[in-house]
Amino acid sequence: MQSKLNPKTTEFEFGGTIGAIGISVGLPILTILLNQMIRPDYFIEGFFTNFNFADVWNGIKPISYYLTKADLWTYYLIWYIVLAVFDIILPGRKMQGVELRDGTKLNYKINGVAVSAALILVLAFRYQLTDGDLPELQYLYENQVDLCIITILFSVMLSTYCYVASFIPLWGKNGNNTNEKILALGGNSGNPIYDWFIGRELNPRIGPIDLKMYSELRPGMLLWFLINLSCLHHNYLETAKINDALVLINCLQGFYIFDGVLNEEGVLTMMDITTDGFGFMLAFGDLTLVPFTYSLQARYLSVSPIELGTYRVSFIVTVMALGFWVFRAANQQKSDFRQGKLAHLKSIQTKRGTKLLCDGWWGKSQHMNYFGDWIISLSWCLTTWTQTPLTYYYSAYFMSLLLHRQQRDEQKCRGKYGKDWEEYEKKVPYKIVPYVY
Ligand code: NDP
Repeated sequence: MQSKLNPKTTEFEFGGTIGAIGISVGLPILTILLNQMIRPDYFIEGFFTNFNFADVWNGIKPISYYLTKADLWTYYLIWYIVLAVFDIILPGRKMQGVELRDGTKLNYKINGVAVSAALILVLAFRYQLTDGDLPELQYLYENQVDLCIITILFSVMLSTYCYVASFIPLWGKNGNNTNEKILALGGNSGNPIYDWFIGRELNPRIGPIDLKMYSELRPGMLLWFLINLSCLHHNYLETAKINDALVLINCLQGFYIFDGVLNEEGVLTMMDITTDGFGFMLAFGDLTLVPFTYSLQARYLSVSPIELGTYRVSFIVTVMALGFWVFRAANQQKSDFRQGKLAHLKSIQTKRGTKLLCDGWWGKSQHMNYFGDWIISLSWCLTTWTQTPLTYYYSAYFMSLLLHRQQRDEQKCRGKYGKDWEEYEKKVPYKIVPYVY
C-alpha cells in the first residue's frame, strides 16, 4: 500500500530481509544463551575455554512447552497488564508528541513517577505481608530463562498483532481527513517479513495505551529493575549477607532507570518514537533484550559474588558519575537550547528553521551524550571486576547499538539538513568520542 501520506519504503536497513531474519532468530538465541550461561545450576567458570553449545542449551524445551506453560504466562501477563492498568488510571502530565505527517500531534500521558511509586508500594506491601520472603521475586529469579523465552514469544505475538492491525483502517479520520493510518517511512516496503521486523505502523495504540511508548518505558525497564532486585534478594536469602557488588549494581542501574522515569518525556523526541515503527525489533529490544541482558551483571554476581571493597566501589561510582554527568549535561544542553535558552552558544541556522548547536558539549562531538551513556555502561560491567568477560557483553553490545544509531541519525540529518549538516560536520568533525571517532 502506498499513498502520498505513506510512500513506499525503498531503502532497507539492517541488511534487508536476510538481516531481519538473522536478527530475529540470532538475537533471541544469543539472549537465551547468555542467560543460560549464568544460571545457578549451570555456571561455567572460564566459559570461553569450556563453552559447549549443547551443554549451555541443555534444559531448553521445545516451543510447545513454553506456549502452553500457564504459570509462566500468568506471571508475565499479570505483569504486563497490571502495569498497563497503572498507566491508564494513575494521573500524569499531558504532553503532545512531535508533529506527524498529517499535521496532527498525538497526546501522551507522562506518569512514570506515579507508576514506579505504585510498583514500589506494592513491593513494600508484599514484603511486609510475606515477612521479607517475596515469593514473586523468588519466582522471577528461579524461572528467569523460562520467562525470558516467554517475553520472546510475547514479542513475536505483539509485533504480529501490530503488523496485522496496521492494515485495518482508522475508526475516525486523520489530519488529512481520510481513515489511513500513519505508517513508518521505513516500514512500508510491502515485504511482510521486513515490515513485521522493522515495524509498519508508526504509533499503534489499543485504547488509551500507546503500545510503542508503553513497551519502551514500562514492562521492560521496570522488569530490569525487578530482576536486579531479585538477584540481591536471592543472594541475601542464601547467604544472610549483603554483598556490596550486588548492592552497587542495584543502586547504579536503579538510579539510571529512575532517572529515565523522571525525564521520560525525553523519549517523545527520540527516533524510536518519532521515526521507527513498532515491530519485532523494538518489541524484542524493549521487552526481552533490556530486562534480560542489561541485568546480566546482577545475575552473575548472584551466582558468583565478589566483595569489591571501598576502593573499587569508589572507583566504579566515579566512572558512573563521570559518564552520567556527560550524558545528562549534553542531553540537557540540547533540550535547553531547542527551547530557546542558551542563546549565547554558537550554532548554525539551518534552512529548515531549526538551529544546530556547535558549542559546549555539542562542539566536542556530534553525540557526546552517547559517549557518556557508554561510559555508564562500562561502570556497570566493572561491578563484576575482572572475574569474567561475559558481563562485558553489555558494553560491547551497547557500543555497536550506539554506533549504528549514530549512523542512522547521521543519514536522517544529512537528508533533512543537506548543506547545513555538511557545514556542521566541518565544525564538529568527531562523531562520538572526541579526537578518536
Ligand atoms: P540525540 O539526543 O543525540 O538526538 C539526535 C537528534 O538531535 C538529531 O536527529 C537531530 O534532530 C538533533 N540534533 C543533532 N545534532 C544536533 C545539534 N548539534 N544541535 C541541535 N540538535 C541536534 O540522540 P537519540 O535520540 O538517539 O538519544 C537520546 C539519548 O538516549 C542519548 O543520550 C542516548 O545515549 C540514549 N539512548 C539510550 C539507549 C539505551 O538503551 N540505554 C538507547 C538509545 C538511546 P532534529 O531533527 O530535531 O534536528
